[in-house]
Amino acid sequence: MGQILVLAEHSQGTLTAVTGELLAAAARLGEPSAVLVGRPGTGDALVAALGALGAQRVYVAEADEAETLLITPAVAALEAAVAAAGAVEGVLITASIAGREIAARLSVRLAAGLINDAVDIESTDDGIVATMQALGGAYIVRAAAKSLPVVTIRPHSIAGTVPATEPERVDLAISLNGAHAAQITAVHAETAATDRPDLMSASVVVSGGRGLGSRENFTLVEQLADVFGAAVGASRAAVDADYCDHNRQVGQTGVTVSPDLYIALGISGAIQHRAGMQSAKTIVVINKDADAPLFEVADFGVVGDLFTVVPQLIEAVRTRRQA
Ligand SMILES: Cc1cc2nc3c(=O)[nH]c(=O)nc-3n(C[C@H](O)[C@H](O)[C@H](O)COP(=O)(O)OP(=O)(O)OC[C@H]3O[C@@H](n4cnc5c(N)ncnc54)[C@H](O)[C@@H]3O)c2cc1C
Repeated sequence: MGQILVLAEHSQGTLTAVTGELLAAAARLGEPSAVLVGRPGTGDALVAALGALGAQRVYVAEADEAETLLITPAVAALEAAVAAAGAVEGVLITASIAGREIAARLSVRLAAGLINDAVDIESTDDGIVATMQALGGAYIVRAAAKSLPVVTIRPHSIAGTVPATEPERVDLAISLNGAHAAQITAVHAETAATDRPDLMSASVVVSGGRGLGSRENFTLVEQLADVFGAAVGASRAAVDADYCDHNRQVGQTGVTVSPDLYIALGISGAIQHRAGMQSAKTIVVINKDADAPLFEVADFGVVGDLFTVVPQLIEAVRTRRQA
């Protein structure tokens, strides 16, 4: 089995959840190895944590500029790791804005095959095959690369855990001098005004649409989200009408989510909205129009007025939790 390299993501000294997901995906395909990029000291802080997530080898690229340059440090580290590893069969990166750019640049440097936004991945007789959704989820595409596959994977689409290891650490030398990269000159941490989970990686998302009618009514979405410990999403119509903040928008021009459970309230199901949520494992739709297109992808649907249905749902969940 060849190595599958995973770009480890970390923030404020902690690995992000997507790193575990990428390692779980890598373990399906070959020997999971992580590539860790950061300031000097990052390796000491995080190699053991990557072992706990199943990385058998950790390639560590440390440089003073690693966290002040955008994109290029990760590209350089992955390129160096591929060269150091020898037999690499694939590279997995999260399908974030930065991840897609890193993957694209790496593919050019390595003359590798780029596959973006996979929701599933497997090893077959034809090599690594990734599954993507196309045209707003209307088609499922399975793709394989003829050369080394560099694949970005949608967060929360691949689950699983890998047995913990004591990883071998391999230090890489990367040169960032003269790298053509945007420079980060300041970072302003924003304190989240909510303790709800992050929208992109939440396991439950409750979203509201134009059917909510006002910002005031949109609190019903938040109340339902609270009983599930869910993240709050919205359609573009709801965001444009200022029912909630723009960073809540789910869809083609918003965030793509793949939760275990997606509950849509008063959302019709335009293709641009479906593009961002159709890979959710279970979809529940509440809409007063039985012909709303979102019912076509629903696992459970309730045809009814959300202002009648949702308070009852909140009450039922609370009662069941207390029982
Ligand atoms: C280039 C482009 C990009 C776009 N990107 C996105 C995107 O990223 N995300 C996105 O969401 N949209 C996007 N859109 C917009 C998209 O086409 C739709 O206009 C939008 O998704 C509609 O939002 P909605 O479903 O909330 O509103 P509507 O389509 O108006 O639907 C409202 C629904 O609420 C139901 N309803 C009303 N009252 C109640 C009630 N009391 N109880 C129950 N149900 C009720 C109605 O039956 C209806 O189905 C994009 C459009 C374009 C052109």
